[in-house]
Amino acid sequence: MPVHVVGNVCVDTTFRVDRFPQPGETFNARSHMDGVGGKGANQAVAAARTGADVRFFAAVGTDPAAAFIRERLKNEFDLRQLSAKPLPSDRSTILVNQDGENLIVSGIDCAADFDPLRETGLLNLIAHGDILVMQGNLKSTVTNACLRAAKAASATTILNPSPLSGEALDLAAVDVVIVNQGEAFETTGKPDPEDAARDLVRRGAKAAIVTLGAAGCLLLEDGAVDLIPAVKVAVVDTSGAGDIFCGCLAGCLMKGWRLAQSARTAVAAAALAVGRRGTLEACPSRVELEKLMNTVEAESL
Ligand code: ATP
Repeated sequence: MPVHVVGNVCVDTTFRVDRFPQPGETFNARSHMDGVGGKGANQAVAAARTGADVRFFAAVGTDPAAAFIRERLKNEFDLRQLSAKPLPSDRSTILVNQDGENLIVSGIDCAADFDPLRETGLLNLIAHGDILVMQGNLKSTVTNACLRAAKAASATTILNPSPLSGEALDLAAVDVVIVNQGEAFETTGKPDPEDAARDLVRRGAKAAIVTLGAAGCLLLEDGAVDLIPAVKVAVVDTSGAGDIFCGCLAGCLMKGWRLAQSARTAVAAAALAVGRRGTLEACPSRVELEKLMNTVEAESL
């Protein structure tokens, strides 16, 4: 059964800088490189590398950036569900400072125009037992329609509503909502992650996960809280950690694993990613994820 990842893909240009610039300031980066990113693509790659059968639904332009994206993703999963639009492909500029923190700005013409229910075969492809994974890059009306269509087809839905748009998302159509600590506060107004998770469940989500950076994550399921500690690692670049977490979690759930066991694996996968440079480049390989999943499975016996 497939994991349908519906969202965005873009060309990421990452600049490594000594510090973040002040308004109006110009200075040179230490290095820069292009790669493929976008929360949708990152999560799709992470899910595919767990061994899941991933279908990726996103929009690209018809420009050289689109060709770059297709070339980089062609060995990860089937690209037939990519929509080609007469628009510039989406792009992100990422600044990473010496502490591994990041600042990101994105151009999202394709994602803003993308309607997978109208433009792709999603509605006919999604079925009972499948998993739908979405993020916050598409219009909220589009995201809500996809989530509701997936629930109507008896699929499991995972929503990582990042970046937050301020518009209401239908948590009643969400089985697992995943937010980081800042998003948890912004969405619920509750500074305490457990209070925030309870609020997200009160709003309709079946289960809620608040990722806590170097502190791991908090899982709220069936009224019970599980605090899953992070794996200690020397931080190189945290960008994309949340996406590796979400994609890996979806892949583990597709194997029929319990949510807590899936979250434990996702925490370990994300730790591998923060120890490396880049976003997608930092995603653990298929071999690494297989080893990690075997270890978690053995520990839980
Ligand atoms: P990003 O925006 O950087 O992709 P995020 O803000 O969405 O990430 P975080 O809560 O920062 O999400 O990180 C997601 C997961 O990655 C955490 O739950 C944790 O398991 C892992 N992680 C993040 N930072 C660290 C760290 N410094 N050490 C170990 N694991 C980490």
